[in-house]
Amino acid sequence: MPKFVYDFTEGNKDLKDLLGGKGANLAEMTNLGLPVPPGFTITAEACRHYLEHGNPPEGLADEVNRHLAALESAMGKKLGQSDDPLLVSVRSGAKFSMPGMMETVLNVGLNDESVLGLAAQSGDERFAWDSYRRLIQMFGKTVLDVDGDLFEDAVEDVKRARGSDDDADLTAEDFKALVDRFKAIVREKAGRDFPTDPREQMDLAVEAVFGSWNAPRAVLYRRQERIPVDLGTAVNICAMVFGNLGMDSGTGVAFTRDPASGQQGVYGDYLQNAQGEDVVAGIRNTVPLTELERIDKASYDRLLEIMETLENHYRDMCDIEFTIERGKLWMLQTRVGKRTAAAAFRIACQLLDQGLIDADEIARRVTGGQLAQLMFPRFASRLDDVQKLTKGMNASPGAAVGKAVFSTERAVELAGRGEDVILVRRETNPDDLAGMVAAKGVLTSRGGKTSHAAVVARGMGKTCVCGAEELDVDVKGGQFTAPGGVTVNEGDVISIDGTSGDVYLGEVPVENSPVVQYFEGELSVEDGGDLVKAVHRVMEHADARAALKVRANSDNPEDSARARRFGAAGIGLCRTEHMFLGDRRQLVEQLILAEDEAGRKAALDALEPLQRQDFEGIFAAMDGLPVTIRLIDPPLHEFLPDLTELSVRVALAGGKADAKDRRLLEAVNRLHEQNPMLGLRGVRLGLVIPGLFGMQVRAIAEAAAARRSAGGDPRPEIMIPLVGAVQELEAVRDEARAILADVRTATGVDVPALIGTMIELPRAALTAGQIAEAAEFFSFGTNDLTQTTWGFSRDDVEAAFFSRYLDLGIFGVSPFETLDRDGVGRLVRIAVEEGRRVRPDLHLGICGEHGGDPDSVHFCHDVGLDYVSCSPFRVPVARLEAGRAAI
Ligand code: PEP
Ligand code: MG
Repeated sequence: MPKFVYDFTEGNKDLKDLLGGKGANLAEMTNLGLPVPPGFTITAEACRHYLEHGNPPEGLADEVNRHLAALESAMGKKLGQSDDPLLVSVRSGAKFSMPGMMETVLNVGLNDESVLGLAAQSGDERFAWDSYRRLIQMFGKTVLDVDGDLFEDAVEDVKRARGSDDDADLTAEDFKALVDRFKAIVREKAGRDFPTDPREQMDLAVEAVFGSWNAPRAVLYRRQERIPVDLGTAVNICAMVFGNLGMDSGTGVAFTRDPASGQQGVYGDYLQNAQGEDVVAGIRNTVPLTELERIDKASYDRLLEIMETLENHYRDMCDIEFTIERGKLWMLQTRVGKRTAAAAFRIACQLLDQGLIDADEIARRVTGGQLAQLMFPRFASRLDDVQKLTKGMNASPGAAVGKAVFSTERAVELAGRGEDVILVRRETNPDDLAGMVAAKGVLTSRGGKTSHAAVVARGMGKTCVCGAEELDVDVKGGQFTAPGGVTVNEGDVISIDGTSGDVYLGEVPVENSPVVQYFEGELSVEDGGDLVKAVHRVMEHADARAALKVRANSDNPEDSARARRFGAAGIGLCRTEHMFLGDRRQLVEQLILAEDEAGRKAALDALEPLQRQDFEGIFAAMDGLPVTIRLIDPPLHEFLPDLTELSVRVALAGGKADAKDRRLLEAVNRLHEQNPMLGLRGVRLGLVIPGLFGMQVRAIAEAAAARRSAGGDPRPEIMIPLVGAVQELEAVRDEARAILADVRTATGVDVPALIGTMIELPRAALTAGQIAEAAEFFSFGTNDLTQTTWGFSRDDVEAAFFSRYLDLGIFGVSPFETLDRDGVGRLVRIAVEEGRRVRPDLHLGICGEHGGDPDSVHFCHDVGLDYVSCSPFRVPVARLEAGRAAI
């Protein structure tokens, strides 16, 4: 039988799968000799059993008995013992941290007798009764599903009767009255009495924590953070220590470095005479941790010492929860701390300089997603015309602009209509998660950098300003008031700067981030500050380690030049149909409508010089680097007017409709397809419309010859789309080769051009061995390959039913975003293997959207592609991930 319970002395930090993050790290700290209250952890495996079968696994109760007995003997008192009770906390702790998502019950072990024992032992009656009412409140809400507002309202009633709005003014008698009131609420709403047996309290709390894994907000959070659905949570049972035993007690949160910027120093929040969740909930305003030095120097010094021990031990920035009980410091939690993207880059390089980690490790410590965040625009530095409303805490960086909304429901509703919103709250709680996800940014008037809003927003990479205390937020009235009496109503646009904490009225213009300025070559490493330096160092190392090259998808000289500045090693996909838009649409229309060879030739002759210019510009921007030009792909009807509109126009004109419109309508009707994505497009067009591909190949060859004659070094590659059979490719290849030879003779310039194909149909992947006979390279078009493998229309499904599929867990992320390794990925593997078997030097790349997606880049590395190609802006992200994949 598996072991379901581990004492804190038995575990270690590497057992997160089993003990959850919190349990594993409590064990690690215990074994480091740090002051952790004794306790034990029930494994996530026990939770999984509970979730599957609806009851705890056999043997769990016995194991808990043994560990509880050991805890009782270590503490010298029994759980709920009436004259001197041992009290415990029951806390969730999953493998991945899910702040505030799941449940905690504190003070387990109190009842009508033991509360008197606690009062006598602590010498503080008020404290004992406050603890008891907190237990009933948490237990009622968490275990017995009673609406938490009923308890809050009862507390408010008592405060009102006292004429106070502060819990601190309540007396022992008030708390006694609240205990009675709370018990009555439980009896009425839960249909049972609050359990007085301490062991029953503990067992029910454990089961409630198990069950909280599937609470809706936890499910939503996991989907957001892509945490697997079936891990379950461990449960930690720990002897209570009290931060609310007077002014020599307190509770706090500390970071070993600033989680927002990464700077070294003392960061955190402290709250005197408070218990556990008060800090994280942002209910009362905390003081900065540095104040603790003045309040309790001995505990402060000890805390700093422990922070250093932890950083050196974990070789990373840690965050810590601690409690001071009457001058004695206790560690309640530690973990490698969540941090902003900027902090991640800075901290990695600091640790490298400190010799704590090596160069490979700095690339492991950051992600492409974090780099992408650093490339978001920020507010312009000159802000002459905008009105600053106030300044709050810079909790999570970025620049966000949107309409102020005051509830999660409105945030979700407006965002669903495509509007940008900023969620404004006094403070957030876990029920606001959906609103935070929907909003561009979050603004709160209360709570510090460790408040729920700040922690969750940072985790999501969402802009957040918190604790903007000057704002008077009226959630019910849907407005807030800023200093000077400015009132902002729901729907008014505001701008929040998560980097500075500034809040503005109206829409503030944005500019490039320093990291983008650096990639653009506008900001040197020396002038860029420590963030740019850190990014530069990480990128240098990633580039040195990467096996994959990174190219860009670009079809004009400007984007190509930018891609090159961003580090692209060429163009992996130039979509030529993008060159047929705008004024040139007319020419394509003429081509389609041409009734004879002469008309067709005239249209092609008009298009060719335009194409040639385009290619010359791109070759110049990518001089010396490969440029893969894909021949025209989409169905021709895309270049013609809409069928319905045209039919109406012709019908309305009756007999007077002009001849051109009639011919157009006839052509549109002729080309109309029920399913154009599976119709006349790609190579099929080239085979059906004589001269079209030939014109493009000629333009490529002539542009290359012209560049070469001008002293350039063009490296064209010609790519045929939507090939399903080698015969299609052979026909086009033979025609292309003839044209290349023709241009060579005519110009006297020999520019070699590889001829290859996209692999974007399952048949192409499955017959890749045959296709490789005729192709010098493959580029995986995973947009179409995903579409045709799943049978999902790439243009429709995301709106139609993907959210339902995500809800059902059919996939955790859209397969159009992250490559589906099992299905589409399998086809890619087959094609790579078969293609290389036939042609060992076959060059292999990917140019679907997946080329810029971090997870997909790792897949491309694993299957041994030569390059990925993505949009210019994502090139740095792909470079970083290519390096990380190789480490
Ligand atoms: C693809 O299908 O993945 C691809 C790159 O081509 P397009 O997106 O232009 O169809
Ligand atoms: Mg395609």
